[in-house]
Amino acid sequence: LSGYKKPNTEGSFVHYKSQYDNFIGGEWVAPADGEYFDNPSPVDGKVFTRVPRSKKKDIDLAVQKAHEAKEKWGNTPVAKRSKILLKMAERIEQNRQMLALSETWDNGKPIRESMAADIPLAADHFRYFAGVIRGEESGVSEIDPNTVSMHIKEPIGVVGQIIPWNFPLLMAVWKMAPALAAGNCVVLKPAEQTPVTVLLFAELVQDLLPPGTLNIVNGFGPEAGQALATHPDIGKIAFTGETTTGRLIMQFASENIKPVTLELGGKSPNVFTESVMAKDDSFLEKAVEGFTMFALNQGEVCTCPSRALIQESIYDEFMERALKRVEKIRMGDPLDPQTMIGAQASRDQYAKIMSYLDIGKQEKAKVLAGGEAYHNEQYPDGFYIQPTVFEGNNKMRIFQEEIFGPVVSVTRFKDEKELLEIANDTLYGLGAGLWTRDVHQAYSIARKIEAGRVWVNCYHQYPAHAAFGGYKQSGIGRETHKMMLDHYQQTKNLLISYDQTPT
Ligand code: NAD
Repeated sequence: LSGYKKPNTEGSFVHYKSQYDNFIGGEWVAPADGEYFDNPSPVDGKVFTRVPRSKKKDIDLAVQKAHEAKEKWGNTPVAKRSKILLKMAERIEQNRQMLALSETWDNGKPIRESMAADIPLAADHFRYFAGVIRGEESGVSEIDPNTVSMHIKEPIGVVGQIIPWNFPLLMAVWKMAPALAAGNCVVLKPAEQTPVTVLLFAELVQDLLPPGTLNIVNGFGPEAGQALATHPDIGKIAFTGETTTGRLIMQFASENIKPVTLELGGKSPNVFTESVMAKDDSFLEKAVEGFTMFALNQGEVCTCPSRALIQESIYDEFMERALKRVEKIRMGDPLDPQTMIGAQASRDQYAKIMSYLDIGKQEKAKVLAGGEAYHNEQYPDGFYIQPTVFEGNNKMRIFQEEIFGPVVSVTRFKDEKELLEIANDTLYGLGAGLWTRDVHQAYSIARKIEAGRVWVNCYHQYPAHAAFGGYKQSGIGRETHKMMLDHYQQTKNLLISYDQTPT
């Protein structure tokens, strides 16, 4: 990778329009009451485009258009739907640099990451669901010699999807790909902080889908988001975001008895056992690298390993190495392919993280690294924070509350019992990491950690064919993996009698 030019400069891969509209019924539609809001880039803090501030009327229109399209899309043969999804993957790949740069500019994440993860993973999700939908089969069973029971999977119809700002395109695709594969029409609301890449994506694929199959409506949570989640004519709502918002979404959905899937927050433990230090080799290096994963995507990852649990017997030695590695984390210009930490996604998020740096200090946690904002000379008005390592105990707020920034809270454990007590002492249960050379530990401890995904000797990998989702207050349902299709289909049972005799 060579350097990237910022959008709207000559030779850049992205030239944003000054204003975007909603994508409804296959057309670009202005918001009903004509209101737009400014969209700043966290990289330099400056507004670069405007998007619709949609309300109930816009959501109503999108839901109506989706209903008009649902028969056509639902009845499109599976092989054809699959082919369209494959083409969507191709369009993403063909425009990888443009989409990656847009994601970096809108969200603040380094180009290294949007190029290597966000965009290729999005393409792969379309490919995966294009494949698995063709392998779907339903069951037939004989009830008695004259009666057959047949289970047929049908699309739900029209589904609502609400997306967060940390992986704007990828989170949209995680939801969109299985929903479309299963024959549903979608009304999707991107996060108000990061609306643009999904709109660019819609421009790229608009000729592939029948009008109304995919609708994108922008706006704020309590306006557009709530109108979508409370809409009586959607068949399901899928949400990714904070646990507090997820609770509201469930309440909204319950009013109309709609199924919900929720992907919510986390406070994931990353556990380093004694055996990690047994040899000074590449495994140890990999484990130290695993420690730094708290800083990936500026810590704005639902599975951010924001609590590190280190076995007491190796604590000093391991932390010495880990802190040396943290010192080397490259921060700064998100457009520089060498940068690991870019800008926090918004002014509000920046302020929230800064307040937690204060809370940690007030709680008397020891600052082992960072602890302050980062002054980026190139972009003095952008939102940058140093990778921060706190040492403390699991009762502290910085160990219990989701900070969603490049901050890790470190503590020690004596033995397996204490490890599990600390790891599971949280409201959340989304992700966890376990580093060990001991095969028995790798299985037995991982099974006892209360989390939907436990990475053993790796971290932050998100393949399409591994199920992802939360235990406890981290969510309901799974995303990625073919089991996701079950959340976007309903089962019709046909009970057929071949018996001619009256009963
Ligand atoms: P958020 O809950 O503030 O917002 C998420 C979405 O919900 C946005 O589109 C927002 O507009 C909308 N929203 C807000 N209030 C609403 C309301 N009253 N009604 C309807 N919609 C509403 O979350 P965020 O700050 O955008 O994202 C960060 C959170 O997302 C973190 O907690 C993170 O852990 C979580 N997350 C979870 C996963 C996962 O897979 N579990 C993945 C990514 C992010």
